[in-house]
Amino acid sequence: MREGRLGVDVIINNISGNPYCPHGPTILFEKFQASKQSRQYFSCSACRDRKDCSFFFWADQKISSTKMQDWKNIYNEARPNLCHREIYTESDILFDLGESHLCYCKSCCRLFNKDVDSKLHKMCDIISGISEQQLKYPSTFLPPKDSSKCEAQYLFTSSSIEIILNMLKGLCASNILCVGAPRIHEAITNNQDLSMNSLMLDIDERYCTFFPPEKFVSYNMFNHHFFDTDSKNVYKKFISQENLVIVSDPPFGGRVELLHHNFLAIQTDWQKEHGINRTLPMLFIFPYFMEPQILSFMPGFTMLDYQVDYDNHPLYSSGTKGMKNGSAVRVFVNKPAELFPLPESDYNFCEPCNKWVNNTNKHCEKCKGCMSKDGRTYKHCDTCVRCVKPSWKHCQQCTQCKPQDHKCGTINPGVNSCHRCGQSGHKRKDCQNKPKVLKNKRKFTVNEKNIEHKKKKIKSLPQSAEDEQRRNMKIFQQKIEIVSERVS
Ligand code: SAH
Ligand code: ZN
Ligand code: ZN
Ligand code: ZN
Ligand code: ZN
Repeated sequence: MREGRLGVDVIINNISGNPYCPHGPTILFEKFQASKQSRQYFSCSACRDRKDCSFFFWADQKISSTKMQDWKNIYNEARPNLCHREIYTESDILFDLGESHLCYCKSCCRLFNKDVDSKLHKMCDIISGISEQQLKYPSTFLPPKDSSKCEAQYLFTSSSIEIILNMLKGLCASNILCVGAPRIHEAITNNQDLSMNSLMLDIDERYCTFFPPEKFVSYNMFNHHFFDTDSKNVYKKFISQENLVIVSDPPFGGRVELLHHNFLAIQTDWQKEHGINRTLPMLFIFPYFMEPQILSFMPGFTMLDYQVDYDNHPLYSSGTKGMKNGSAVRVFVNKPAELFPLPESDYNFCEPCNKWVNNTNKHCEKCKGCMSKDGRTYKHCDTCVRCVKPSWKHCQQCTQCKPQDHKCGTINPGVNSCHRCGQSGHKRKDCQNKPKVLKNKRKFTVNEKNIEHKKKKIKSLPQSAEDEQRRNMKIFQQKIEIVSERVS
């Protein structure tokens, strides 16, 4: 974070009317800086780093219609030459060639016949000997996109796939909309016994080669944009079917408010198709430390205790190379938790909580709940009257439990409160208050001081839940980058 920068809010307007970048309509952001007026700008919805998508435009500058058209043209030029149908038809002819002839070019993202087109791919990075099984499960050989900023891909292990499928069975789902969940889509599509249907919505257009336009739709979940003109109809037709459930495993760096906004758009489309007013069932996959954000935007959701495992992501998974306390990733659901049974090897059913929890998560009689979030056994503090992480200690000066070597005296505003005054109920831009001095002599120091402290942030210990969360995210991102560099 650059000096003096307080943060960036997402302004949810009529997104489809915003200027276009190659990833569809951009998003309006508002940037807050210490001792400066806030300023709004349009920026790419899908990529957080301007290195990956350089589109940027100040919203207070006049946008001429020519300029708008110029951007639309850039978008059109970035589209593939062939449409999805053409790409699929081209590869469909090759599917029966057999393993000894069939190759995949990672550089051109195309299948080809070794005997015919080898010369065309002389300079390319290719995989030879693509089997029938691989064609059905392209995620097993397509190199995962590893940028943690744009289109990051982390793939489920087979046991996590099985458990997610069980969750879908528990919901009596028959049609699954997989939004950023290619492995769930592959599992459903290739398993007749499940009696489920699936449509994949994802920004990774390499899947056009392997799935026809009726099975895969190229889609951006951060702006609800459909890249191919006809594909919105495929989606509409699909969601008009019975017992629809969404499964989504978005990139964790993505803004939850945008995801939420677009899931509501899907829900509204679904309600219109069916002429009903109900909530659309959904499995939403995200790290446990994002729970406060998720629940603030999506209050009807509950976090399950199940730890989601990834194949290509040692840091998000369990096992020796993984996180000490197992994977940090959880499933959020908008149906009662009791509907989701978990494997008895690592989980048990807690009668009073009426849900399945990790064996390490011990029920607290005082809190009347299984209170662990991160996979460790929490301990109850009688003074705080709540369960806290096992390593935390009650601090007399702060009059609450805190990480052991925290700095006494400063607290940060809660996750869902105004970043300026610390009160909940309004956002920073609507704030009328002066930064507030809190009771108990705890000084609430927002700006300069916290910014100073943020510079050294990763090394110093978190001061509040929000701080810890932000820090977790940052550490995770850095680790992802390190791991992907090591893997590639
Ligand atoms: N664990 C899942 C994959 C999750 S990785 C599985 O095994 O099936 C995140 C997925 O979201 C990837 O498939 C990625 O291509 C997709 N994705 C990333 N950014 C996206 C965006 N802006 N819109 C739609 N899909 C996106
Ligand atoms: Zn972009
Ligand atoms: Zn319990
Ligand atoms: Zn307790
Ligand atoms: Zn305490």
